[in-house]
Amino acid sequence: MKDDTCIFCRIAAGEIPSKTLYEDDEFRVILDLGPATKGHALILPKNHYRNLFELPKEQAEKAIVLAKKMALRMQEKLHCDGLNLVQNNGETAGQTVFHFHIHLIPRYEGDGQVIGWKPGKPEDAELEAVRKTIAE
Ligand code: 5GP
Ligand code: ZN
Repeated sequence: MKDDTCIFCRIAAGEIPSKTLYEDDEFRVILDLGPATKGHALILPKNHYRNLFELPKEQAEKAIVLAKKMALRMQEKLHCDGLNLVQNNGETAGQTVFHFHIHLIPRYEGDGQVIGWKPGKPEDAELEAVRKTIAE
């Protein structure tokens, strides 16, 4: 379940050194090398899954529980004012490393980071059409 050509597989396995915040049998949490803010971290499963679509349900459950644990720890230790969970899937969505990961981005008042989107203004009929497409 490891891809030797994948940098995050190699980091998660400890073959490439990283600033590790947490490790267990299935996950490693590391500091991002290009942090948006102080403490920006990445949750990496040790097995190779390209994205959320490929991630098994059990790993997804464990990953979000781990995200909560790390978020609480960041709040306690870094005294951040907020925190963004960011998780990109596919190049179109901004993914650059194709090994599933969750970004934990602690936020601080006045940190100047912008994590967001341009809100649209759909008519009700358009929203309803989308709702039907997905829900039914
Ligand atoms: P993505 O754009 O795929 O959601 O996020 C990839 C993230 O991985 C980026 O924030 C980038 O800074 C980080 N990154 C890329 N290569 C490395 C690396 O070798 N080590 C660490 N710690 N972070 C990396
Ligand atoms: Zn990998």
